[in-house]
Amino acid sequence: MRKAEDAQKHEPAQTRDGHHVEVVCNIANPEDSAKILGQGGEGVGLLRTEFLFEAAPKEPSVEEQMASLKAIVNELGDRQIVVRTSDIGGDKPVQWMNMPHEDNPFLGIRGLRLSMQHEDVFRRQLEAIYRVAAWQVKEQGSTGLHIMFPMIAKLSEWQWARDIAELVRKGLNAPELPLGIMIEVPSAVLIADHFAREVDFFSVGSNDLTQYTLAMDRLHPQLGKEADNYHPAILKMIEATVKAADAHGKWVGVCGNMAADPNVAALLVGLGVKELSVSPSNVAAVKNIIRAVSYDKLKIKAQKALEMGSSEAVMALYRNHDDLV
Ligand code: PEP
Ligand code: MG
Repeated sequence: MRKAEDAQKHEPAQTRDGHHVEVVCNIANPEDSAKILGQGGEGVGLLRTEFLFEAAPKEPSVEEQMASLKAIVNELGDRQIVVRTSDIGGDKPVQWMNMPHEDNPFLGIRGLRLSMQHEDVFRRQLEAIYRVAAWQVKEQGSTGLHIMFPMIAKLSEWQWARDIAELVRKGLNAPELPLGIMIEVPSAVLIADHFAREVDFFSVGSNDLTQYTLAMDRLHPQLGKEADNYHPAILKMIEATVKAADAHGKWVGVCGNMAADPNVAALLVGLGVKELSVSPSNVAAVKNIIRAVSYDKLKIKAQKALEMGSSEAVMALYRNHDDLV
């Protein structure tokens, strides 16, 4: 099975009835980018940029940030690379930022909320991204760089981030890049229609979306395992996000861990998700399931999943794929 999957990992992920899905990768440093193309990945759906900040004794310079990003661009050329601005806080503290102790850091100053308190650091990260984009367009004619903001709960947070990005871009006379947000807080799902008018794309961070929807700490030794992505509430949130995006001609990807489970990948595609972002080692299995099934049937089955009352019932439905061929 593994061999057959591997043999086709460079083929596009196209269902039997011709529906195409992008299968891209989550990476957390430039070294990971070297594994993407060899595994059949088609780009980067999530670059976790925390690596730039976490290990460093002080804020990395713009030039250092640019060097890391250029290393990834050099691997992937003008394929899509979604660069997420730093998602520090929660489970990812950074020493040099002097972050105060929080009793409940997952509900505290993390992601874009921290960027709002350190606007100068945020601006320098954006400067690095836009300068690499300008360099790539000059050298290679085009760029696949995208920018994505994490932990957005309110429209005003996205608008703040977008406006700063635009100021930085204009100041550098850099090319426009698609700007999107992570959908990982339930409030963002419930007003997805408002976001969809303004953003270029959504990427569902199902790890956090599950934690915040089920009120289960993703790192909790007992609850972490129970915070499963088959929960119908999560599926309904993804469906609502896709509907809002479709109404405004925007695309939705999923970059949380759920996309890497081939059964769930089938479910996500049936819900209308256009891009799955997984670790390079999971690309072959995800592409394989998509190639084995029909999109029309995936859509019908996803509607059935949405009617289920429990994760167990959804899982039982996807244990077998005979009805998807
Ligand atoms: C997520 O929350 O699903 C996600 C992809 O982001 P991270 O795991 O980095 O919080
Ligand atoms: Mg997250």
